[in-house]
Amino acid sequence: LAAIMLGVALSVVGEAGKTAVAALDGMLSAMMRIVGWIMWLAPIGVFLIIASRVGYSGLGNLVGPLGLYIVCVVGGLLVHGIVILPVVLWVFGRTNPYRFIWRIRKVLLTAFSTASSSATLPVTIETCQARGGCSRRAATFVPALGATINMNGTALYEAVAVLFLFQVFQIDLTLAQKAVILVTATLAAVGAPGIPGAGIVTMAIVINAVNTSLAGIAPDAKALPLWTIGIILGVDRFLDMCRTTLNVFGDAIGARLITRLAPDEPPTALASP
Ligand code: ASP
Repeated sequence: LAAIMLGVALSVVGEAGKTAVAALDGMLSAMMRIVGWIMWLAPIGVFLIIASRVGYSGLGNLVGPLGLYIVCVVGGLLVHGIVILPVVLWVFGRTNPYRFIWRIRKVLLTAFSTASSSATLPVTIETCQARGGCSRRAATFVPALGATINMNGTALYEAVAVLFLFQVFQIDLTLAQKAVILVTATLAAVGAPGIPGAGIVTMAIVINAVNTSLAGIAPDAKALPLWTIGIILGVDRFLDMCRTTLNVFGDAIGARLITRLAPDEPPTALASP
């Protein structure tokens, strides 16, 4: 909010604000360069993070019900990321989705390794413009907004995780309660900040909403205690990396769609890699 107010004020004061705008532009370019340097180390970082997560959770945890839960979340994210979002990009953005994915791979890799939409933001802005064929206006505005409110992956993850926890506790849910999960998981994802582990915190909202619905039907119904979130905490970092990748991918697709649908300059075709 402070950033938006400063931007509005600088545009209102006109000439007097020119120096400040130029200084902020310079800072942005310097930040982009620093992020570029850091990116050289990203592949090593990704390797180390995955190794440490597998070591922390233990191979035993990767099989059994928790293993199925991981497969379910990752499978859902893959279907959304490899089928649904590409179809949207192809139909509405008239863009070859798989070439787009290849060209913005740096963004996806950064999201995966940092598990943070906000930390990935400078890379998203720069890559969407430089390699994703997005206009400057769309590439700067859409990912910045999307980093906090557009979280496809988090919404999907929260819905699956809450269903899983209710199943573990053998609490049967009606179709209406599953609809409550669907709606509140989407809202909780919108409210989650783009930082690591945010989704698992806002998941409490979803569990409380279902518990309230259960109590409304039968006051003595069994409720799911919030501490059960601890069951999935051990494997959360890996799922966070996966869902953040999808969150950021959704932002990049949004930028490309806006470039096509509301161009401020002729949209450029994706050049060959
Ligand atoms: N880490 C995610 C993001 O930054 C939010 C979440 O925890 O789901 O997009």
